[in-house]
Amino acid sequence: MKRIEINTKIAVFLKELHLPAIKEIYEECSLNAEKGNTGHREYLLELLEAEHTTRCHRRINRYMHESKLPLEKDMATFDMNRMPLNIKRIVDSLLDGSFLKRKENILAFGKPGTGKTHLLCAIAQELVQNGHRIYFTRCSSLVEDLLKAKRDLKLDSILKKLTKYEAIVIDDIGYVQYNREEMEVLFTLLAHRYERGSVMLTSNLQFSKWEKIFKDPMTTAAAIDRLVHHSVILELNLNSYRMEQAKIKKIAKEKK
Ligand code: ADP
Ligand code: MG
Repeated sequence: MKRIEINTKIAVFLKELHLPAIKEIYEECSLNAEKGNTGHREYLLELLEAEHTTRCHRRINRYMHESKLPLEKDMATFDMNRMPLNIKRIVDSLLDGSFLKRKENILAFGKPGTGKTHLLCAIAQELVQNGHRIYFTRCSSLVEDLLKAKRDLKLDSILKKLTKYEAIVIDDIGYVQYNREEMEVLFTLLAHRYERGSVMLTSNLQFSKWEKIFKDPMTTAAAIDRLVHHSVILELNLNSYRMEQAKIKKIAKEKK
């Protein structure tokens, strides 16, 4: 077969089989192999590796996009030195992602501004970078979405859809007061997630105040029970980061 014919056929197959990375590099790799610099197997390995790497990057970009995580809240911008040693240790152990396999929940408590949302988002971003699927939502919009799905008779299907995520970050549970119907869909989701997948949640409310969220003591106890059964609790007993930053700025200004 003539070289030009071979090249045309290769181009067609690469396109049909969706192998863009190989398309990009095969010419150069082939020349290199023809010169005797790489053997048959090495050449094949080069091509497969390139395609594999490209696909991994694409998949992670897709996962990052679908996660809806706020990208600016990452580990690089989080000052871990503000965290007490026990929190640092726990965070380190969470970053290997094994809690996802164990379907454990991460529950972050603390006053507003202590870094709960930033920390959980940063952990989640690291895990997405390692190939895990996670979905971020504020509790209020989650409740809104679930309620809408319920009214459209699609609650089951949305719950099923969410099972593809190894963790759901539910930010700020208890921040807004819910009516009974809203609280019920939230409870349904938590009950559905139980032992199916992790929940990573942040709250300014300690468990002792959760009756404000779930209204009656039975439902409150049932929700807490499911969340806590397999869980890691991060108590951020710190001052507000924003307040501290404001103080630092004020002192710096006064020194000038
Ligand atoms: P919370 O969810 O506890 O109310 P946030 O995570 O929203 O607090 O943090 C409030 C603000 O302070 C955000 O802009 C966040 O990026 C910043 N922040 C909090 N803790 C840290 C930290 N340790 N390092 C860097 N920025 C932080
Ligand atoms: Mg928050």
